[in-house]
Amino acid sequence: MGDPWDLVVVGGGPAGAATALGALSAAPDLRVLLLDRAAFPRDKACGDGVSPEAADVLAGLGVPGLLDDWTPVRRLDLSHGSRRVSRQMRRAVRVVPRTVLDDRLVAAAVAAGARLERHRVRKVRVRGDAVAVDDDLAARVVVGADGAYSVVRRAAGVPEVRHRAVALRGYVATPPRWSGRQVIAFDPRRRQAYAWCFDRGDGLANVGYGAFGTDGLTRAVLLRRLGELLPGTMDGPGDGADWRGHHLPLSSWRWTQPDGRLLLTGDAAGLVNPMTGEGIHYAVATGALAGRAAAAAVTEGRPSTAGARYRTAVRTLLGPHLRHSVVAARLSVLPAVLTAGIVAADRDQRVFDDLVDLGLGSGRLTRRVVAGLARALTPTRC
Ligand SMILES: Cc1cc2nc3c(=O)[nH]c(=O)nc-3n(C[C@H](O)[C@H](O)[C@H](O)COP(=O)(O)OP(=O)(O)OC[C@H]3O[C@@H](n4cnc5c(N)ncnc54)[C@H](O)[C@@H]3O)c2cc1C
Repeated sequence: MGDPWDLVVVGGGPAGAATALGALSAAPDLRVLLLDRAAFPRDKACGDGVSPEAADVLAGLGVPGLLDDWTPVRRLDLSHGSRRVSRQMRRAVRVVPRTVLDDRLVAAAVAAGARLERHRVRKVRVRGDAVAVDDDLAARVVVGADGAYSVVRRAAGVPEVRHRAVALRGYVATPPRWSGRQVIAFDPRRRQAYAWCFDRGDGLANVGYGAFGTDGLTRAVLLRRLGELLPGTMDGPGDGADWRGHHLPLSSWRWTQPDGRLLLTGDAAGLVNPMTGEGIHYAVATGALAGRAAAAAVTEGRPSTAGARYRTAVRTLLGPHLRHSVVAARLSVLPAVLTAGIVAADRDQRVFDDLVDLGLGSGRLTRRVVAGLARALTPTRC
C-alpha cells in the first residue's frame, strides 16, 4: 500500500475541499489526498445559495472573496398561502452554480498543497494503526465528505440518516419580477415543503421544489408543485434546463461522531438544516474543523484522537444551533406556526434577521422570535 497518507479526504464537494484547506492551513506540510469519483468541474443538485456565514468560513480558510464576482442578493421573499414577507437580509447571499463553487474550492485546496485524484472509494477499513482505503491506499486519518450516501459513514458504523428530504432544481431565465431576489413559497398542501426561485444575477435563476420525506415525491410531482407555487418558473414540460434531484440528509437532535480515525463532515455527517435545506455552511464549517482536528492529531503523533477532538469542536461551534434548528423545524410543521413566523418577520425586521440566521447560518431560536411567534398566534380581540 506504500507510505500512508497523513489524511485522505473522500469527496471533493464543499466539505471535502474545506477539510483539505483546514488541514493544510494548520499544518502546511501535511500529506493530504483528496479523492472524488467525479472530474471537476462537476454539477451537483443544489439551490446554489451560498450564505454569508459560509463565505466567512472560506475567508478563514485563506480563500477570501472567492465568490465576490457573483451578484450579491439581499432581498428575501417568503410566503405561505396568502401571507407574505419581503425584506432585505442583513448580509447578502450569493447564488453560485456548483460547477463554479466546487471547482474553485477544489482548485484552492490543490493550490494549498492537496493532491487531487479521481477515484471512487468502495471500501474503508480501520486496521490497527492505519486506515485502508480500497486495496491500494492507506491513511493515518480519513475524512468522509462523500455526501448523502457516504461509504465512510457506513465504515464508521454510524447508522443511516433517518430524516431525509428530496429536492429537484433546474435553471430558467430569471422572471423579471424576481430579479435580485431569493423567493421561497411554502407549500400549503404539504408540510415542510417549499418551492424556490433564486436569482443568480447573470440572467438565470435557480428554481426548484423540495419536501420532507420521499414517499410519492416523483420528479413529475416536484415539477408540478413548483409550477403551481411559483407560476412562470415551470409552466410545462420542456421549460428550464439541467433538472437534477437529490436527497438531503437532515440534521436531527442527536449528532454522532465516533472516536478514532474516521471523521464525517457535511452531508456525510447528516448535517443539513431541517428548516431550510441549507447544507453548504455546515459542510465548510465542519470540513474546516475536521481538517484542523486531523492535522493536530497527526502532527502530535496521536491520529486516533482525531475523532474525539473533532466531535468536541463541532459541538462547541454548532451544538446549540443544531438543537434550536431541529426545534424550529418541528414547530414549523404546524401550518399555524409557519404562518405566524411570516407574520412576525413582517412586523419586525429583527425577527426576520434572527430567522434568517437560524435558517442559513448558526443562529438560535431567540426570545425575540419566540415572543413574535406567540404574539402572532394570539387571537386579537375586537
Ligand atoms: C436540490 C437541492 C437544493 C439545495 N439547495 C441548497 C442551497 O441553496 N444552499 C445550501 O447551502 N445547501 C443546499 N442544499 C444542500 C447542499 O447541496 C449540500 O448540503 C452540500 O452539497 C453538502 O456538501 P458536501 O460536500 O457534504 O457533499 P456533496 O456536495 O454532495 O459532495 C460530495 C462529493 O463526494 C463525492 N463522492 C461521493 N461518493 C464518493 C465515493 N464513494 N468516492 C469518491 N467520491 C465520492 C461526490 O462526487 C461529491 O463530489 C441543497 C440540496 C439539494 C439536493
